[in-house]
Amino acid sequence: MAWLDPSKVKYLVVHCADTTVNMDIGAKEINEWHKARGWDGIGYHYVIRRNGKIENGRALTVRGAHVEGYNGQSIGVCLVGGAKKGAGGKLTPESNFTPEQWATLKDLLLGLTKKFPGAVPVGHNDLTDKKACPSFKVADWIKTLPSGTFS
Ligand SMILES: [Zn+2]
Repeated sequence: MAWLDPSKVKYLVVHCADTTVNMDIGAKEINEWHKARGWDGIGYHYVIRRNGKIENGRALTVRGAHVEGYNGQSIGVCLVGGAKKGAGGKLTPESNFTPEQWATLKDLLLGLTKKFPGAVPVGHNDLTDKKACPSFKVADWIKTLPSGTFS
């Protein structure tokens, strides 16, 4: 377990669990999945369930495991959902989050920008070309909020 230096936090990285809308899971299940992959438990700092409720993952003082190359300078927030079953049962990205999740995401990120001045919300897909996660563009969502919300 490595510590996260709060002065180095530049990004608030939004993820999705890559689950379908009927999967009502939370931090406990994600913790089990990540352990099964051989990781040190849940890689995110926060999980936002389908009902908009926040669950804690790693402590904010601990480095996350959620975004290759940026874990030492970011906080990881995971929205449950973000996938649909396509042809042959294959999961494909879908922005299918609930109104409660969008509201919680905004409040949580606003709180984090106060805790980590200068840190900006981004999507996992803004930091790598290899991922569609969180199945939407964070910058486009921010544009739908009252101007100045994140500046
Ligand atoms: Zn991700």
